[in-house]
Amino acid sequence: MKKYTCPHCGNATISPLKKAFAGTPKSKGVICPECGKHCTNGMQSAIFHCIVDLIVFICVAVSYIKLPLGKSFYTMFGFLAAGFILNRLFDALFYPLTESLRNDL
Ligand SMILES: [Zn+2]
Repeated sequence: MKKYTCPHCGNATISPLKKAFAGTPKSKGVICPECGKHCTNGMQSAIFHCIVDLIVFICVAVSYIKLPLGKSFYTMFGFLAAGFILNRLFDALFYPLTESLRNDL
C-alpha cells in the first residue's frame, strides 16, 4: 500500500492506517519512524471533520426529537459511528500530511 510522505524529512514513512488516526493539526499526530517528528493531517482534514461532525450532530438531534426512545438510541449511535468512520476513512485516503501545530511536543 502507498505510504504518505513525512512533511519533516520527505520520506514516505506514514501508512494510511497511521494517517487515519493522526488527527487534526492540533493533535499530537503520529511519529515519523525516520526522523521522530510529529505529523498530523492538514487543515483540509480539520474542515472536513468539522462539516461531518455538524451533519452528524444535526442527524442525532433530529433522530432524538423525531424517533421513539428505543429506536433513536441505535439511530444516534449509528450516525456517530458513521461520522467517525467517514472521518477516519477520508484521513486515510486524502490530503497530504502536515507538521503538527503544537509547540509542546
Ligand atoms: Zn520524517
